Amino acid sequence: MIDELIDEIKTYNKKSNLELIRRAYEFAREAHKGQKRISGEEFIEHPLETAKILAKLRLDDNSIIAALLHDVVEDTTISLKDIEEKFGKEVAELVDGITKITELKAKTSSTKQAESVRKMLVASTKDLRVIIIKLADKLHNMRTLEALNEERKKKVAKEAMEIYAPLAYRLGLASIKWELEDLAFRYLEPEIYKKFKEKVNRKRKQREKDVENLIDVLKEELGKHNLNPEISGRPKHFYSIYKKMKKKNYGFDDIYDLLALRVVTDNVENCYNIIGVIHNLWQPLHKHFSDYIANPKPNMYQSLHTVVVGPRKQSIEIQVRTKKMDEIAEEGIAAHWRYKDVISEKKFDRQLSWLKEILNLEKDKAKDFLEKLKIDLFGDNIFCYTPKGDLIELPKDSTPVDFAYAVHSDIGNKCMGARVNGNFVSLRYGLKTGDIIEILTSTKHVPSRDWLSFVRSAKAAERIRRALSLTGIPGRRFFTKEEEKKVNDSLLSVEKLNKAEIKFAKCCNVMPGDDIIGFKLSDKKAVVHKADCVNLIKIKRNKIKVKWVENFNVDVRLKVSALDRVGLFADILNTVASTGTNIKVAKAKSIGNDNAECELIINFTNLKNLREIIDRIYRIADVRKIRIE
Ligand code: MN
Repeated sequence: MIDELIDEIKTYNKKSNLELIRRAYEFAREAHKGQKRISGEEFIEHPLETAKILAKLRLDDNSIIAALLHDVVEDTTISLKDIEEKFGKEVAELVDGITKITELKAKTSSTKQAESVRKMLVASTKDLRVIIIKLADKLHNMRTLEALNEERKKKVAKEAMEIYAPLAYRLGLASIKWELEDLAFRYLEPEIYKKFKEKVNRKRKQREKDVENLIDVLKEELGKHNLNPEISGRPKHFYSIYKKMKKKNYGFDDIYDLLALRVVTDNVENCYNIIGVIHNLWQPLHKHFSDYIANPKPNMYQSLHTVVVGPRKQSIEIQVRTKKMDEIAEEGIAAHWRYKDVISEKKFDRQLSWLKEILNLEKDKAKDFLEKLKIDLFGDNIFCYTPKGDLIELPKDSTPVDFAYAVHSDIGNKCMGARVNGNFVSLRYGLKTGDIIEILTSTKHVPSRDWLSFVRSAKAAERIRRALSLTGIPGRRFFTKEEEKKVNDSLLSVEKLNKAEIKFAKCCNVMPGDDIIGFKLSDKKAVVHKADCVNLIKIKRNKIKVKWVENFNVDVRLKVSALDRVGLFADILNTVASTGTNIKVAKAKSIGNDNAECELIINFTNLKNLREIIDRIYRIADVRKIRIE
């Protein structure tokens, strides 16, 4: 049994320490000895199968070993220290990460907050491999779900559908996503699933024949052009059929009868050549061609898509991509690791450069990946629980008062004390992810002005001010000093003021290259408006000349405000990377009400380039505002 795993690893990792992997297996088997799964099989089967799923994704030794050991700490008397001594620190950290996910998950009452649970899982994980191992763990549990009782089945399936499949999608692990969804679908909609299965079985023969014929015709035609790619019929996933049926109000047959081919070739040029040949052979359907090679999806997916009218007037969906793209499409992040040393295809590289930027592969390897990626996905937030297990997302360093207001304004206003994980704490206590918070209220209690000095969330501050009727008083700004920086003075040259502190006026959002006018506020301070700012009518005195400097060498901080959505950060980074510009720092965070703020630090050497990048970012969907600092 372990031999199957070893054989699989041998196919992709020549340097693997197979001896250590065998030892990990024996260690886990010994630890789980006597334990059985509900299905009756030996417990060790589960970690072993989990490891095999990871080997299929060609993961590294430490991930495989951690998978073999992933339930040891939770279910046996073995400690993390034992694991560290025998298998090293990295393995111990991975196992710890997986155990923590289970603990955190256990505190959450339901999947009704699926989005928050997903966020929390990623935000509280230090190493992205932990999530991949967790997904493999989940997948094996789903494969063996039959053994559980009805209620458990539904619960686990729902979790797979709402939490883990979307996570797999985000990481580009398509094969895991499909399987999780189809398995979950089977248990969540057993009747529909059964019907689907019968229909598919009835039609399978005809469909297979149709696909084979198409492949033959296409192969021959491509051969005439010296193109010999691999062509296969694409399986249709039940859940994707179901989703399309619901969304487009189609019948099962409409969707299932649509034939689908995948063409995999060795380079990008061939992809476009092949599409050309296909469009000559079969009439393409208008507006159905998509070029995800030039415009990759946020989860790194690349491919050409077209729909054509086949010989028997049936619609055929065709995907054309390179082998590498195909692997990335199926395995996402996991495949990316395999290619991290490859610098061949320049374009591919550039498109992934934003990811590399975060990965910072040379220096920190994958370890820091998540530390940085999580900022992209979910911001710097923490996740705490109500005593009932509801998840509350808060800004980092939030206090029980923030928590109280996040639950309800009334609870905030009447908050007089708090217990965190059962212990009384001060209202200034800094909360951490995973804390369970109980707020003590009193009907007579009112908010204290003092709270404004320590709350972190804008909502709490606003509600406190409102309760104190302080709305007219200028509020404390929720930016750190660091963020309040003045304009970089190398961008502007100001007449008559030496080393002045220049700020952009808030009213008119000045962008590099705009026509501008400056106003002297003091000997050391000046403010810059757009030349056509409406507020200029009010200001007449102390006008000074300000000019943009054409050439410079400075790090410019760009702050991009946008509507938060999946892939926003990736879009921004891709846009910048596609110009060949190197990003020094990239951060993003959610700032509530579906808004996100991305911060980029980029070294610019001239005004034209700076303006171009800004204009490009402005053209990205959902970007609302860019500020420079
Ligand atoms: Mn497990």
